[in-house]
Amino acid sequence: MTRILLVEDEAALARALAQGLRDERYAVDIADNGEDGLWAARSGEHDLLVLDLQLPRIPGLEVCRRLRKDGNHLPILMLTARDTTADVVTGLDAGANDYLVKPFAFAELLARLRALLRVGTRATGVELTAGDLRLDAKGHRVWRGATEIAVTTKELQLLEYLLRHKGQVVARQKLIDALWEHDDDPESNALEVHVASLRRKVDRGAEVALLHTVRGAGYVLREPGR
Ligand code: CA
Repeated sequence: MTRILLVEDEAALARALAQGLRDERYAVDIADNGEDGLWAARSGEHDLLVLDLQLPRIPGLEVCRRLRKDGNHLPILMLTARDTTADVVTGLDAGANDYLVKPFAFAELLARLRALLRVGTRATGVELTAGDLRLDAKGHRVWRGATEIAVTTKELQLLEYLLRHKGQVVARQKLIDALWEHDDDPESNALEVHVASLRRKVDRGAEVALLHTVRGAGYVLREPGR
């Protein structure tokens, strides 16, 4: 049985979410503060962490950072009440795999959970490259040169799609269709947020930029020298 850890201090929301998830046949454990949440997440008993950002004792972002610092790869879906790009980017940089802005539809939460859980079991097993950038789709790992880059689930999917269409300009809508289920519309700037974050990780400090924006058309990943 898939076991979800829910760290949420709003008792009524936590109860409602837990009930809904149990109805979908997930096992659910609840923690109502960051300290207990971190302790529970470190137990290794869970398949996924749903993490509120504003929590007593230890804030959600810090829980996220500490887990990743431990080398813990538990998929993390963060819940945020603050619909600002800065918070979302900070959360993704801290190691969260995806995010939802409150209030959200329960069906949307389920769709995100399914997507995150699928990544762990997907077996493509192909290594994709562009210049000194390498992506191991099965192992969920990315390198630029000899340096491994930590990417979120969405960034990995985005990069994988662009690598599979290397040298081609990919339209925004194509990427949105590839990255989100059709019943799961992202916020209007969600794609741009993920692209900006991915670009920072992949191209910052590199001699040659690989990920390019083609204004009014979309995005392209170019092999250096082409
Ligand atoms: Ca909260």
